Amino acid sequence: MTTPLTCRNYIDGQWLSAVGGSTLESSNPACFTEIVATFPRSTADDVNLAVAAARQAYRSWRKVPAPARAEYVFRVGELLLQHKEELAQLMSREMGKPLTETRGDVQEGIDCAFYSAGEGRRLFGQTTPSEMPNKFAMTVRTPVGVCALITPWNFPIAIPCWKAMPALVCGNTVILKPAEDTPACATKLIEIFAAAGLPPGVINLVHGVGEEAGKALVEHPDVDLVSFTGSSETGAFVGATCGRTHKRVCLEMGGKNAQVVMEDADLELALDGAIWGAFGTTGQRCTATSRLILHHDIKEKFTAMLYERTSKLRLGAGTDPNTDIGPLVNANQLQRVNNYLDIAREEGAKVLIGGKIANEGALKNGYFFQPTILDNVTPDMRVAQEEIFGPVVALIEVNSFEDAIAVLNNTNYGLSSSVYTRDINRAFAAIRDIEAGITYINGPTIGAEVHLPFGGVKNTGNGHREAGTTALDVFTEWKSVYVDFSGHLQRAQIDNRTEQQ
Ligand code: ADP
Repeated sequence: MTTPLTCRNYIDGQWLSAVGGSTLESSNPACFTEIVATFPRSTADDVNLAVAAARQAYRSWRKVPAPARAEYVFRVGELLLQHKEELAQLMSREMGKPLTETRGDVQEGIDCAFYSAGEGRRLFGQTTPSEMPNKFAMTVRTPVGVCALITPWNFPIAIPCWKAMPALVCGNTVILKPAEDTPACATKLIEIFAAAGLPPGVINLVHGVGEEAGKALVEHPDVDLVSFTGSSETGAFVGATCGRTHKRVCLEMGGKNAQVVMEDADLELALDGAIWGAFGTTGQRCTATSRLILHHDIKEKFTAMLYERTSKLRLGAGTDPNTDIGPLVNANQLQRVNNYLDIAREEGAKVLIGGKIANEGALKNGYFFQPTILDNVTPDMRVAQEEIFGPVVALIEVNSFEDAIAVLNNTNYGLSSSVYTRDINRAFAAIRDIEAGITYINGPTIGAEVHLPFGGVKNTGNGHREAGTTALDVFTEWKSVYVDFSGHLQRAQIDNRTEQQ
């Protein structure tokens, strides 16, 4: 066992313990007796310090030319690349994903760094004609100010990068409040930002419990923007608080994503997609495939194929290269998934495979749950409607393409979606008719790339998109600029009219 890492807050360029001195621990979900890190249990006192530092730093950071700001972010990308393996190993120990996936998580941060850094030399506005003579009109992007970034544990490097990198390039200063389960990953990431030479106060880290440090940040009057990724319950609180206090807010919340498999689909391809989409990251992605909508004609055959493949998946620690599926992140998640299995049985779903906590042998000290297929699920059952966030996939049978799309859309969420078909007409009809922020054709519901918008409709979000150029719309305000070089007062809508009043 390795010695636990001692994590601290990073405020105004200094590594600090919590003002109150309390600490918490993170542990390895594959072996919960192993403590991975201790970290500060921050309170409003620490949040106040971080917000004051971010506000002070904002005064000069916003004036640093955007291409120069972007160079720091580029350097973060280079350092992430150098430390990729070390970060991936740490992440597997701290939140349980297999190494192939944790390497992907760090790579997403690297991709985001290089992509965001490029924006430093773009950040395009518009020029447009004025309706008046001798007058010039344009729009420019300006930073929002002090941004609070509240992040979950399932992508502990990628999601903070998605938020912090465009925020910094746009000229904002940031305070990261990472999830309680992944303080070590957040600390290592901020060490890299610090090593890239960012001036003190430009990026700050405040560890702690959501209802304490997170809440204090959201409620702080000197925070201008909150970017949140997490559960719908917490998102509702964050959104309401920001509404009350007039903060800009970007929410990325749950999903109940479906993959449709039509009767004309390449079934082997659809099977690869279903296994990866449903069981990748142990089903703990907001884009995970939690419903498989299967056309009647292939349902029996596809279910048999799925069963066979699922039965071969190996549970284990993420650090073991033979592992297909890691543990759930903590005891609460394990309990939650287990409760949903009770609900499924009560509702009349049939557990085809899995359905139980796995705690035999090498798995006994971990939060493992068997990969699970629920059959005979109807579209309105709770297990077809509510986010489970575990390795559980519900099979729903349909008789037509139209039914498939109706069932897919029959949810309060609208993040990701997927359709497997060889029919180009159906593919385009699906792209048009699916109510979701992301649609894959002949690919699984997971696998977003950093240069495309990420987010969803309905209860998944509040109309914003992360990543891509759309991240700039979250982290900047538009300013319309008029330059009048006529030398006299020109009244728009009045002085350029010929009719006399
Ligand atoms: P998850 O189910 O992914 O853990 P949460 O919404 O509980 O989702 O947590 C996501 C992030 O939100 C974490 O960083 C957590 O600490 C934070 N958080 C939880 N509750 C609050 C709250 N009341 N105010 C602000 N942040 C919170």
